[in-house]
Amino acid sequence: MGKIIGITGGIASGKSTVSNFLREQGFQVVDADAVVHQLQRPGGRLYQLLVQHFGQEIILENGELNRPLLASLIFSNPEEQEWSKQLQGEIIREELVALREQLAQTEAIFFMDIPLLFEQDYSAWFDETWLIYVDRDVQVERFMKRDQLSKEVAESRLAAQWSLEKKKDLASQVLDNNGSRDQLVSQVVKLLEGGDSCARD
Ligand code: ADP
Repeated sequence: MGKIIGITGGIASGKSTVSNFLREQGFQVVDADAVVHQLQRPGGRLYQLLVQHFGQEIILENGELNRPLLASLIFSNPEEQEWSKQLQGEIIREELVALREQLAQTEAIFFMDIPLLFEQDYSAWFDETWLIYVDRDVQVERFMKRDQLSKEVAESRLAAQWSLEKKKDLASQVLDNNGSRDQLVSQVVKLLEGGDSCARD
């Protein structure tokens, strides 16, 4: 099997920025969020599961899922949250396993961008895990700007997640994204050049 690197971070910490750069360099990067979206589209495995569980009311006129309604149904109820974590989590994992096996056939090195890599216990899949880290105030600012959110909303969404400080202790590499995009990219380049020697002691 080739070398597999997991990329993670928090909301708006810079995961996509790193993934896009890696793609520009010709690497394959699996985007776990995009996989979930695909599975939740009409005909997808999660779509069917969610409609069976919550009923037709979660389908919009255009046939897509009503995501805001779904989010409120799941996050307002701990039992639904547990159900979602178990059943959706299992299907997402199966799908990611299949992609991982497929890429391992052809790629000497490839990446998987998984926002909940540590929360959902994916660490064992990877030879290295790269955490894209930012200080909380920078994170709030970039999140507000990107998604046009108030400070209050941005902060409450971040408060519902594991902090980047906690994830720092779990990652094999920490990339600091408090500076410019170029500074972030040069850390990526250094890690790619470092090969095996880039694992943190
Ligand atoms: P994630 O994929 O982790 O949610 P993104 O890569 O989308 O985060 O980055 C969040 C936002 O911050 C985006 O609008 C992105 O363009 C911007 N951004 C990322 N890194 C930097 C940086 N070093 N300097 C300025 N803006 C950045």
